[in-house]
Amino acid sequence: MYAQVVVDVPTQQTDHSFDYLIPAALEKFIVAGQRVVVPFGRSGRRVQGFVVGTSTTSSYAQKCKPIAYLIDLQPVLSSELLQLSQWLANRTFAFWVDCLQTMLPNVMRAKYSKKAWALTSTVRQSALFQGAAAISVPNDLTQQRQLAQWQKQGQVRIDYLVENKAQTRQQLVLNRVANQDYAHIVTQVKPQATKQRQLLQLFIDHPDWQQITYTALQQKYQIGNSVIKAAIAHGWFTRSQIEIRRNPYTNPVTPSSPQVLTAEQRKAYQTIITSASRPVLLEGVTGSGKTEVYLQVIEHFLQQHKTALMLVPEISLTPQMVTRVRARFGGQVAVLHSGLSQGERYDEWRRINQQQAQVVVGARSAVFAPLRHLGVIIIDEEHEASYKQIDNPRYHARDVALWRGRYHHCPVVLGSATPSLESRARGQKRVYQLVQMPHRVYNQPLPQVQIVDLREQQNLALELNSPLQVDLSQPLITALHQCLKKHEQAILLLNRRGYANFLLCRNCGFVPHCPNCDITLTVHLQEHCLLCHYCGHREPIMKQCQVCGSSKLRLSGTGTQKVETQLQELLPQARVLRMDNDTTTRKGAHQRILQQFAQQQADILLGTQMIAKGLDFPNVTLVGVINADTGLGINDFRANERTFQLLTQVSGRAGRKQKLGQVFIQTYNPDNYAIQLASQQDYEAFYRQEMQFRHQGNYPPYFFLIKITISHQERAQAFKMAYNVAKRIKPILQPREQLLGPVQPTVARIKNRYYYQIIIKYRHNQSLGQLLHQIMNNVQIDKKRGFAIAIDNEPQQME
Ligand code: ADP
Ligand code: ZN
Ligand code: ZN
Repeated sequence: MYAQVVVDVPTQQTDHSFDYLIPAALEKFIVAGQRVVVPFGRSGRRVQGFVVGTSTTSSYAQKCKPIAYLIDLQPVLSSELLQLSQWLANRTFAFWVDCLQTMLPNVMRAKYSKKAWALTSTVRQSALFQGAAAISVPNDLTQQRQLAQWQKQGQVRIDYLVENKAQTRQQLVLNRVANQDYAHIVTQVKPQATKQRQLLQLFIDHPDWQQITYTALQQKYQIGNSVIKAAIAHGWFTRSQIEIRRNPYTNPVTPSSPQVLTAEQRKAYQTIITSASRPVLLEGVTGSGKTEVYLQVIEHFLQQHKTALMLVPEISLTPQMVTRVRARFGGQVAVLHSGLSQGERYDEWRRINQQQAQVVVGARSAVFAPLRHLGVIIIDEEHEASYKQIDNPRYHARDVALWRGRYHHCPVVLGSATPSLESRARGQKRVYQLVQMPHRVYNQPLPQVQIVDLREQQNLALELNSPLQVDLSQPLITALHQCLKKHEQAILLLNRRGYANFLLCRNCGFVPHCPNCDITLTVHLQEHCLLCHYCGHREPIMKQCQVCGSSKLRLSGTGTQKVETQLQELLPQARVLRMDNDTTTRKGAHQRILQQFAQQQADILLGTQMIAKGLDFPNVTLVGVINADTGLGINDFRANERTFQLLTQVSGRAGRKQKLGQVFIQTYNPDNYAIQLASQQDYEAFYRQEMQFRHQGNYPPYFFLIKITISHQERAQAFKMAYNVAKRIKPILQPREQLLGPVQPTVARIKNRYYYQIIIKYRHNQSLGQLLHQIMNNVQIDKKRGFAIAIDNEPQQME
């Protein structure tokens, strides 16, 4: 028997597997979807791999080496996910093995398990290469028990059992023994053995206890190991090992029950549950009750014994959503996102894999959750850029969700108040079924939005001979005063996109740059340093200018800290909560800040993008956008779309329940159509205008984009390679299709490597994909000469 194994080495082909001999003793156990350890290359070094198939013959039969270890007793990837991985490799131009690994929690990835294999060095030289069986079992009780059982039944002969690095958390427990009469025993114990009596008494007092952990006995009751040991020796108790699930959510939630749906919600609900063959684009204004629709749709499929997957942009930014799902579905919910510890993620993943959780809420990577019998997939805020992975494999969670939806023949819901142009255009063409919810649940009008022209404000300030020193305009300050007076709350957004705090010499204009990258260094006041966001270079904040020696160095740009100070001066009575990268570094900090705000322990929530999304505070009646323009200056065809989305989202935080909302947008570009139409909350008009712009520029959704980035330590080398790549692609382009570049991106040098970029705009090009795979392999082979290549299919960021 042979196994096809995708090994953890950067092979030259993105879709390649290697044949390995299955040792006779392992034949019964090896199936597709398991991880194995195999020798690789001439040196025979051990690498992790994934079994993707088995066969009775191999064209390489003579050369095949045997599999060294089996890591999993049960497959960790279903046949669905195996198929998906292949599709993913093809679509993202990533290595197949990267696609397979990206579907699993980090602790199950090869680089994390290296230590475990090191333990096996004594075994390495001996029997393994002669075809003996070895199984390396993760420190997972379920698997270990399974193995023990097989061994007992004589189904497996284990030559070597190698324990993997501890990935599960386990504890010793003391178990009650069924027919022991503890009340009787305690009377027989000597009076001086007080601890023994105490232990017995515990089990008498708590007849419901079947077991208790050693830790609890030691810490809570001060009963030591020797006492426990003796009690076991007497036969009063037994001991065993149990796994403790690391539960990321220990805070209880108040259960919620379904609301009676409004007519609009009802229609959306009906459409979704009957739409297995076509994705649904749910376009509902902020506060139209999309979340309630999602929850009831999930409920519907749970009743049919199916499972549900719900994606949200970044959980740490939208903890309210997790709370709402947990409130409805309790212990059935598993959560997967980057805010969890490695162990928590591993535990949550196994709960899903063992079908102990039916509802998964998670960020991007949760789209690979090993749910079986999927009933529905929901993508909330489907337009969010964070659904696209920036690193290998560069997948878009929406694409993956659509693939899984087709596989399971289940509804896929794309929800948003401001759908991406791509999705909306597909809705228009009826590729997706478009369902609209144009009204808010309580039929409140959308908030009134006022555009504040900062140019005028500046002129006004000049006339009054007081240069505009503050970032808050007079109309916004007045509104804040009124809001506070009514004991209502306000949200202030500081848009930091494409924007950094840097140091500037007021004498000569010098700005400190990173020595390795072509980018200014960002000031981090709390750590007292200048930091490069590209390579991590850090240096202390200098006291004097390196060029002219002046000490007039000052912080440039608006920061949340600066605005906070201004608020304290202008509105000394206001209680301000700040939410930005600095105040949310600690785990759970988001949640705490939002909770404080929800409990009205503060009047103003001031923050960056992270406060724009999904928050539902009934007492918020005022929203202020301090700088609407920063996103517009970015060299990206989506700049208008992103600005429109952000402004609409944040405006939607105001006046969500009975109270009317008010929004102030401060801008230097009051005539920009994205800002104008966002202030009117007119998605339809924005869509029409933006589609014209996209049409003229041959941008998505009219054309598809591919971005190729090539880098080398020498500028000329990087350019030459990029130039040659462009030369290979040009001949196969169709009329109207375009290749732009090679050009240097704005940040042309990162970590002392020079970058060149090529953009391809294409429509239906049969040969392009194949050619790009070839190019990928060719440049990859040139890795030894220092080249690197990245191909980004449908990039979300143009630079
Ligand atoms: P969206 O997700 O579209 O922004 P939400 O689902 O957050 O909207 O709904 C806005 C508010 O209306 C929430 O406070 C929610 O609890 C409430 N709500 C939603 N649907 C109903 C309903 N059918 N009846 C009463 N209240 C509802
Ligand atoms: Zn200077
Ligand atoms: Zn740098």
